[in-house]
Amino acid sequence: MKIIMYHYVQRYDQRYPFFRFLDEKNFLKQLNYFKKKFGFLSRLEWEIALHNSDVSNVSDKVILTFDDALYCHYDVVYPILRDLDLWGIFYIPTYPYIKKKMLDVHRIHLLCGAFKGTQLLNALRDMVPDLINFEKPSIFEKLTYRGQKDLDGVTEFKRALNYYCSSSLRGRLLDKICKQLNFCVEPEKFYMSEANIKDIHAAGNIIGAHTVNHPVMSRLGLEHQKFEIRESFRFLRDIGVHNVKTYCHPYGETHDFDQTTLDILDAEGVDYSFSFEERDLKASDLKNNRQVLPRYDCNAFPHGRPS
Ligand SMILES: [Zn+2]
Repeated sequence: MKIIMYHYVQRYDQRYPFFRFLDEKNFLKQLNYFKKKFGFLSRLEWEIALHNSDVSNVSDKVILTFDDALYCHYDVVYPILRDLDLWGIFYIPTYPYIKKKMLDVHRIHLLCGAFKGTQLLNALRDMVPDLINFEKPSIFEKLTYRGQKDLDGVTEFKRALNYYCSSSLRGRLLDKICKQLNFCVEPEKFYMSEANIKDIHAAGNIIGAHTVNHPVMSRLGLEHQKFEIRESFRFLRDIGVHNVKTYCHPYGETHDFDQTTLDILDAEGVDYSFSFEERDLKASDLKNNRQVLPRYDCNAFPHGRPS
């Protein structure tokens, strides 16, 4: 079985000339490719596979997942799925709904779409003169962003902010950079609304939790991790879209979460969770590793390359 992970599926926007996204035409082409080559699992087939920890009847079929509650998932993806009679799993970080603000991870994406990476990195270096020390080699330097081919400066900019800063320092630095570049995005235009999430849920899609703040969970202690997981499920319950208990690891690679995360997910009765690991899902994953189910990025398949 193949689980596919999508983020931005949209149309070109001239305000973001460097933005990396899957064009909606390529998304459609990729869905047609999956349909012909593998076929899609129905929701019932997925429920039976989960219940029996058995993928023998559906071993090659595809499930679609969409992370981060992006508005394009309502505006672009949802109508396409509806027209093709397909369904998906949508993972929602809850901070934008509780605080009415953008998550830092997405401010970083948008900045990298609107400005050159070298310009952003220079702005950051001006604010943090000891960025060289701050960029000291660590496990994150070797392991993060390996599969991504970003423009000059972008990987360093993202890594410094996402992996080397405390979250409060990152927020302050991003506030300063946005102010300096006169850059502002409203969360209402970037994320789906609660009403959008309810529509998608009512149409037969699954809604899952994706933490509150979208942190690198392995950098947090037990209580903080518990908060991130419990509160994100609480929000889904509160808005009435919580009938399947599923979770998706922010950033998703093995260094981004730890055994504490997996223990909390088990203790909270989460049925299954997705990570990012490019291989097929096997029956043994459903039997033994339900909180770390593998997913492919859409760019691993034809038509999935970002524009
Ligand atoms: Zn995410």
